[in-house]
Amino acid sequence: MTRAIKVAHLFPELLNLYADQGNLAVLCQRGARRDVSVEVVPVRLGDPLQLGDFDLLLLGGGSDREQAVVARELFRYADDIKAGIELELPVLAVCGGYQLLGQYYELPDGTRIPGLGAVDVVTKAGPANQRLIGNVAITWDHGSARDHNTVVGFENHGGRTFHDYNALGKVIRGHGNNGVDGKEGIVYKGVIGTYIHGPLLPKNPHVADFLLQRALRYRGHPDHLDDLDDGLEWLAHGTVLRMLSIKTGDQGVTI
Ligand code: GLN
Repeated sequence: MTRAIKVAHLFPELLNLYADQGNLAVLCQRGARRDVSVEVVPVRLGDPLQLGDFDLLLLGGGSDREQAVVARELFRYADDIKAGIELELPVLAVCGGYQLLGQYYELPDGTRIPGLGAVDVVTKAGPANQRLIGNVAITWDHGSARDHNTVVGFENHGGRTFHDYNALGKVIRGHGNNGVDGKEGIVYKGVIGTYIHGPLLPKNPHVADFLLQRALRYRGHPDHLDDLDDGLEWLAHGTVLRMLSIKTGDQGVTI
């Protein structure tokens, strides 16, 4: 029997940097290949958000200006989203979207764009000429990925993010949350927040399956996912590792 899940793509017209919507194509494809129907509903400015309809929220990255617009819109759902997250609602939040989940994003002039406060995370913009940019590789230890223990992608952010939760991974190459503490992203219950664009999921099929399983569970479906032939995906992943001069072996990266 087909298992069905529903994904809310929040403000695709604003939060759409670096092909973040490619994450959805991956979720749909990896679902379809296992008889899991993934329905994506774009939620645009002014649309009502019926949170109870959804099993996964996707927030992409955006510029500071777009982030401020989204913050105003999303604020009325802050309590619902926070409650959903406590009940294990899965969320993938990238860059500007990740910052929005937190308490605030402080701009260089000291003004604060308020976040949803769904997680106790704060972000402050660094100096304008010191953005954290480039390819990035981090560790992965949040689920079964057999011999794959890394996540790769591309980051470009001015914000420096700080929190005391588990990170998505430890930085092997790149900057991560703030360029200082060696953490990249956040994992809290069903939430993955990250600075990794590129988009994240095509080169990291294990992260895509982590989210699919979380969403299936949230909807009350069995979460088993058959293995897929991910040869091309791992080729892309390995290419980034090689670009970053990271050596891999049979047991993945030795860290
Ligand atoms: N505006 C945020 C920053 O520069 C987010 C940028 C992004 O989403 N790539 O920190």
